[in-house]
Amino acid sequence: MIVLREPSPEEGTVEAWIAWGEETLSRLPEDGRREARSLMTVLKKDPLVPWLRKTDLLKGDEASRYKEWVLRRAKREPFHRITGVVPFWGRDFYIGPGVLVPRPETETLVEAVLERMSVCPPRTVLDLGTGSGILILTLLAEFPEAKGVAVDILPEALYWTTVNARSLGCEGRISLVRGDWMSMIAMAGRFDLIVLNPPYVPTETIPALEEEVCSFDPWEALDGGPDGLSIYRRLIDILPAHLHPGGWVALEIGGDQGSFFRGYDASAIGFSNPQIVRDVGGLDRVVLFRKD
Ligand code: GLN
Repeated sequence: MIVLREPSPEEGTVEAWIAWGEETLSRLPEDGRREARSLMTVLKKDPLVPWLRKTDLLKGDEASRYKEWVLRRAKREPFHRITGVVPFWGRDFYIGPGVLVPRPETETLVEAVLERMSVCPPRTVLDLGTGSGILILTLLAEFPEAKGVAVDILPEALYWTTVNARSLGCEGRISLVRGDWMSMIAMAGRFDLIVLNPPYVPTETIPALEEEVCSFDPWEALDGGPDGLSIYRRLIDILPAHLHPGGWVALEIGGDQGSFFRGYDASAIGFSNPQIVRDVGGLDRVVLFRKD
């Protein structure tokens, strides 16, 4: 990483710092210049930072915060990990170490569920491997009569889900359970809807993912075993026992994993044939089953 000379305190206006940030991030594979400007926008939105014009000098602590953010981004830390907040389905979610950065393609799952369940909304929802809680909390916000259970093995995930449940006013309708994928077997309840975005990246391909993912997202949220399908194989047979008749399961999958589900004989376990939904990029992204 080449570190460019930064503006001195006397020349460190908003525009001078942005120019420095743009130059420093210009070598990123993504649009680093745009991200340098966006980081300044985030800094300026902070309620503790007064409104700034482009010719205003940044104060010492503002300049050092901006500099730290840009240098972290230059080392490929994802933009949303630096700012700590990610928009998902129109709401802001807070995140930190120990949870996956929410991806826009996961909105495909929300959309697919809303299309199928808006007429007869679920009263109970289970989210396995909840991470920062984006799926279950979005669904609880969209279905105001529903209650939910969120399961995750990582304590950080339950922390961020709690933070987000409070910020969205859903904390009275969600229960958090620390446990692994199979902990649902011990759960007595049945649900109207089960959602999951499990780890589905084949183990060997993780190191080849972009730096922002393989060095910063938790391994536990990515590693889906040798072919990426381990969690689905372990879970699929036991899901029907935890659904009410007519209930739905919605799974996120890797863009090239649709064929595994297309060939799956779901009737043998009491499910309708799988419905596969593509994301905006045209890749298979969500599989839905309905319990007969
Ligand atoms: N969609 C993520 C990625 O490859 C993976 C998340 C997951 O395994 N659930 O970037």
